[in-house]
Amino acid sequence: MGFRFVVVTFGDGQGGIPLRDLDRQDPFGGVSGYETKETPPVCHALLHDPAFFRFLSHIDAELAEEARKGCCPRCAGPLHVADFPRKPRGCPATVREEYSRRLSFTCGRCATRTTPASVRFLGRRVYVAVMLMLVSPAGGHAAASVRDGLKVPARTLLRWRAWWRKDFQQTRFWQSVRARFMPPLPATGLPVSLFERFQGSDCPERMAQLLRFVCPMSAYPV
Ligand SMILES: [Zn+2]
Repeated sequence: MGFRFVVVTFGDGQGGIPLRDLDRQDPFGGVSGYETKETPPVCHALLHDPAFFRFLSHIDAELAEEARKGCCPRCAGPLHVADFPRKPRGCPATVREEYSRRLSFTCGRCATRTTPASVRFLGRRVYVAVMLMLVSPAGGHAAASVRDGLKVPARTLLRWRAWWRKDFQQTRFWQSVRARFMPPLPATGLPVSLFERFQGSDCPERMAQLLRFVCPMSAYPV
């Protein structure tokens, strides 16, 4: 599978959102013209595709490199690599090794940690971020795919659905961007309705766009 490598951009400042690339995609104004409750089944195949996971690793490496070029936000000291271990769930076995570290840095002067945004991990969740983007209503093919194929406990899926409908609504990230979606995205349709606003040429590209869009949330606990 060939992925078009995208240049990852950071937010433009305090609470900024990496919209420069997304503006090109017009996720806010684009209306898909159809109503679906689930992401297409083909998108769920991503969960078994090591190439897609490696593609996300490349994006994370870009995000980390951008962060490394900066300096400590507290004292302007130099940043040193200080990745921390993860035990990821939901990724193919062949990429588990590269997904076993969350890229991070500490200041060489004051030891303050700087953790760049990530398209692979969302906060402290053990499941990879892409799984959370594929949450869908119970009873459908998508829910069955995640539950059975990846052995996600039913209670975890319930918790993820509740997170999209409640907690996500309260995040600083969503509060800062939600008004830009026209027509609005009701909580009950997420995350599928959000995915539908991205107009990439195929599922991997659209999913990568969505993950890059929400990655500002990845740097703090959600
Ligand atoms: Zn420092």
